[in-house]
Amino acid sequence: MKFTSEEIHRLAAEFERRTPQDILQWAADNFGSRVAISSAFGPEGLVVIDIAMRKVTPRLPIFTIDTGFFFKETVELIRQVEQEYGVAIERLHPELTPEQQAEKYGPELYRRKPDQCCYMRKVLPLQQKLPQLDALVAGLRRSQGETRQGARILQLQETAEGHRYIKINPLAAWSKEEVWWYIVSHQLHYNPLHDQGYPSIGCSPDCCTRAVKDGEGERAGRWAGSDKKECGLHTFAANI
Ligand code: SF4
Repeated sequence: MKFTSEEIHRLAAEFERRTPQDILQWAADNFGSRVAISSAFGPEGLVVIDIAMRKVTPRLPIFTIDTGFFFKETVELIRQVEQEYGVAIERLHPELTPEQQAEKYGPELYRRKPDQCCYMRKVLPLQQKLPQLDALVAGLRRSQGETRQGARILQLQETAEGHRYIKINPLAAWSKEEVWWYIVSHQLHYNPLHDQGYPSIGCSPDCCTRAVKDGEGERAGRWAGSDKKECGLHTFAANI
């Protein structure tokens, strides 16, 4: 890691006054092939990808964690994004298919033990990818909800295995309205489920993603009815 913890903290504060394009340019200049965009193709990810591909470099790699439980609308959106920018998006896969998981752990593990399901289907594939990277671009926004209020534009993180990397959240300071203004004004493809009451879209089982009611928070439809708020992708590594 070429940056110390102090340098990352200083840059994180400085980047609060910079544009997402500047931040992504810094990432591309400093990490080359050791930085990638991680996206589940929510609104923020689409904005990050558009800025990166059109204004920074189309060589910034993009990957997604294909849990095997994508909505069909998400699968189609990924295809559209690949076509729009002429890129191939890497899919990370869990070790077991949904069918193999059901055979080994019983049906609908996501309903009974969602933390275990998320760990196997999301966190482990990312952990296996991380040794290839010194920096990871994500789409966290502080205004998404209480679990994301502390998100910084740059966060130095360390896994339990001791791998250090920088998580980059170029849109940390953006509002939901700014994200949607960008999407609409740049005519980006987006998931049609957003127009059907799903502000946040994850896996397709109804216990993992449902539409929200009027007045509910934008992540209220994720694991609704349980205490679970995050899949673990943004919480398994320690901030240092
Ligand atoms: S969101 Fe649901 S289906 Fe997807 S990995 Fe987590 S528990 Fe499993």
